[in-house]
Amino acid sequence: MAKEGHKYIFVLGGVMSGVGKGVVTSSVGLLLQQKGYPVNLVKVDPYLNVDAGTMNPTEHGEVFVLRSGLETDQDMGNYERFLGRDLTNEDYMTSGMVYQSVIARERALGYNGKFVEAIPHVRDEIIKRMEAAAEYNGSRISVIEIGGTIGDFQNALFIEAARVLKMQHPDDVLFVMVSYLPVPGTIGEMKTKPTQTAVRDLNSYGVQPDFLIARSTHSLDEKRKEKLAVWCNIRKQHVISAPDITSIYEAPLNFEKDRFGDMLLDALHLPKKRKASLAAWNAFVKAATNRKIPEINVAIVGKYFDTGDFVLADAYLSVIEAIKFSAAKLSRRANITWINSKELEQGGPKSIAKSVAKLKKYHGIIVPGGFGESGIEGKLKAIRFAREHKIPYLGLCYGMQLMVIEYARNVLALKGAHTAEVAKNTPHPIVDVMLEQKKHLADNKYGGTMRLGAYPAYLKKGTMARAAYKKELVEERHRHRYEINPTYVKRLEAAGLVFSGTSPDGVLMEIAELPRSAHPFMLGTQFHPEFQARPLSPHPLFTEFLRAAISRKRKK
Ligand code: GLN
Repeated sequence: MAKEGHKYIFVLGGVMSGVGKGVVTSSVGLLLQQKGYPVNLVKVDPYLNVDAGTMNPTEHGEVFVLRSGLETDQDMGNYERFLGRDLTNEDYMTSGMVYQSVIARERALGYNGKFVEAIPHVRDEIIKRMEAAAEYNGSRISVIEIGGTIGDFQNALFIEAARVLKMQHPDDVLFVMVSYLPVPGTIGEMKTKPTQTAVRDLNSYGVQPDFLIARSTHSLDEKRKEKLAVWCNIRKQHVISAPDITSIYEAPLNFEKDRFGDMLLDALHLPKKRKASLAAWNAFVKAATNRKIPEINVAIVGKYFDTGDFVLADAYLSVIEAIKFSAAKLSRRANITWINSKELEQGGPKSIAKSVAKLKKYHGIIVPGGFGESGIEGKLKAIRFAREHKIPYLGLCYGMQLMVIEYARNVLALKGAHTAEVAKNTPHPIVDVMLEQKKHLADNKYGGTMRLGAYPAYLKKGTMARAAYKKELVEERHRHRYEINPTYVKRLEAAGLVFSGTSPDGVLMEIAELPRSAHPFMLGTQFHPEFQARPLSPHPLFTEFLRAAISRKRKK
């Protein structure tokens, strides 16, 4: 049970998905935290997957891995980046998780022979989890984002749980609706009707929003503010204009200007302790949105870009953010180009060589994480090019495994060197399945069974990794099933590759790099450093990678 008088703010979305509920939730969290209130942020995902780990990134966007190893929605990454701290399993729930525990309890005779039904049992399990998250975090205010859009079939039970909480604690629960106001090109006028309809839809659940965040391409004018207030039954001051912004990190600053945080505290009957301390955040936003600082051109060679006619950079969200944070720290603006690795495989050898040679214009190349066979040869070509042309390279997880395979193929001349993930019968399984993973795969146990979450790594003296982190022992988050095959390590090292980070027992290779004498910056990590990069504490490996990219630009 959460403490008596604990406060809840529910964030719901109207009209359509992708309107920025996550940014509103993160911003409210940051504001209240910086005003002196301990907060916790919760993401509710209405799908039946037990976690986000089994979904394809083109379906779902990035899978964000918590320190614990739980595979979650990318919004959780935003929450961590805004709050500047790690989140826990309690802060995330899916319909799958909720149903799984209700059903497990039913199988164990936990309901004493009663009917087990969505209401009350599933609803109460949801409430229990919301309270547990508050309790576990020792927070004063919980900000809970309910995924999906109002009117969806799937999230209705979560809204019902929120309604019941409000009914039980009328002074302690608020609803913030984030809606979208289109400005259709042919009409040229901002339309409020879809939002009015969405609010009425929410009313039909027995829920009245207390605040309305009006997302749009433009600011909301007074006339429309009044109209929305009257039609949606919301105090005019509580209708908050939220036009498009250059950077999501500006949102809390704008909300603070509009006194959104203070109005929330008033509505929750909490004292205003102090203004939000946002000086460091402000400085970061200034650097991150400064258009006048020089650009640095980074290519990301990946494969999860295409969903129909749209490019989905969401699949690598944390990587993009990590680049931005380090760039801001170095007073640079990162200009990211997406390169679909499949395009580096198409056509005859000549046209492939031509496409690959285009990589020369970039100051740095990143190959991010990935799974399976498609686009692999293209990535390997990009990596070889980066190595041979001394272009700063950062490989993340698959990007590290492929960097080592490329080295084995082209420097050690191990023909057919590969990963067992793609080529089961390769003569040289440079990357092989981890021992404990074999059984999971044989039993089709894919969900939540990878090597997941934070593990320690020791860094070798005199290496780039050690110089970047400035310490010997680090902890980073993982998500992989395969690893560098230990039987090849000696040979790779003899040929010049340095394994600068290993698991404490020395068995798992965590970081591979080339010595500075051979290459300005060629480094790959078995883990995902991007998950721990934060606006106010950029990740040292991304920073060093960009530093090398900056000096390439200078030399060119
Ligand atoms: N597919 C690789 C593995 O499972 C790399 C995973 C990743 O890049 N996250 O080991």
